[in-house]
Amino acid sequence: MFDKAAFAAHESVHHVFDAPTGLRVIIAIHSTVRGPAAGGCRMWTYANADEALIDALRLSEGMSYKNAMADLPLGGGKAVILGNPRTDKTPELFRALGRAIDRLNGAYWSAEDVGVSTQDMAFAAEETRYVAGLPGRSGDPSPVTARGVYLGIRAAALRAFGTDDLAGRHVAVQGVGHVGAHVCRFLAGAGARLTIADVNTEAAAALARETGARLVAPADIYDVPADIFSPNALGAIINPDTLARLKVKVVAGGANNQLATPDMGEALMARGILYAPDYVINGGGIINVAAEIAGAYDPAWVEARLQRLMATLGEVMDQALREGRAVNRVADAIARRRIGRETGQLQA
Ligand code: NAD
Repeated sequence: MFDKAAFAAHESVHHVFDAPTGLRVIIAIHSTVRGPAAGGCRMWTYANADEALIDALRLSEGMSYKNAMADLPLGGGKAVILGNPRTDKTPELFRALGRAIDRLNGAYWSAEDVGVSTQDMAFAAEETRYVAGLPGRSGDPSPVTARGVYLGIRAAALRAFGTDDLAGRHVAVQGVGHVGAHVCRFLAGAGARLTIADVNTEAAAALARETGARLVAPADIYDVPADIFSPNALGAIINPDTLARLKVKVVAGGANNQLATPDMGEALMARGILYAPDYVINGGGIINVAAEIAGAYDPAWVEARLQRLMATLGEVMDQALREGRAVNRVADAIARRRIGRETGQLQA
């Protein structure tokens, strides 16, 4: 672990094996300087334990940055279960996960993530109180994430076009799932012109009917001449191949880990494209979860934190533009300062 490139002075990494259920999970705690580490639990068919460890190290460091930028009293952590989310899930496996989380005595709070549902986490919650984002509590964080992404798009538009009025602006949206669909509705409500793509063609067609968006094939979304590209599906979608194809002035969307490598930040800048750093613009969801962790869920608190996060996003973009630096580098530096670190390894 200590020799891995993804190791960034993580406070602890727990490898847990539960023989009766076959659970193999790695819980990485990057930082608890701001408060208990918080971050979702992912289940994935990793090729080997090394790959899973690297994912846990990387994702938990990312959560430290995201929580710090949202000014939450939370550190960064992540759990990754080694297994096939389609075939290996049982209630007992998640109860064993709950017991593993509980043994950390609140140093780590979990929630759902890729490959894990809120129903799965409800089984974990039978064994521990350190699980958030369950149905009937703070609920689905996606609408709050999407509202933050919409406000962040406006903040980026203000810097790129001199106005945050989106009436008539053309936005190309990749992915219309939980987050992307809400983002499209906000944008359509503001009078933006939409072009959308999703591998789920039925979902895309339904949303196109609802919002008047134009549909394109998933492979073609990078070539759409538009004002703004909003990625709301996959990570690593800003890479040398796609960058050469983009015909936009802004990249602002909810997807995690958008830059394939950190130097894509400089490459975007060189092409005159303003980038809204992913873990800043998409922090609305964790704010919603944090409200539940704090004890009493209060929508007014969530809204106030979201507004503050958007002010931070504006400051990050302004500083980058003023200093001629890539926006992601400015964001990383601020996040590291907020957790008392000078260096880190974060990349997509
Ligand atoms: P989701 O699974 O509901 O939606 C993702 C959508 O992207 C799906 O409709 C899927 O069909 C589509 N998609 C997948 N591959 C695609 C491709 N190649 N081209 C076009 N579309 C494709 O997930 P979500 O909850 O909406 O999350 C979307 C992104 O936002 C993810 O990167 C996630 O990590 C990030 N995120 C989500 C939240 C949240 O609150 N849900 C918070 C922060 C970040």
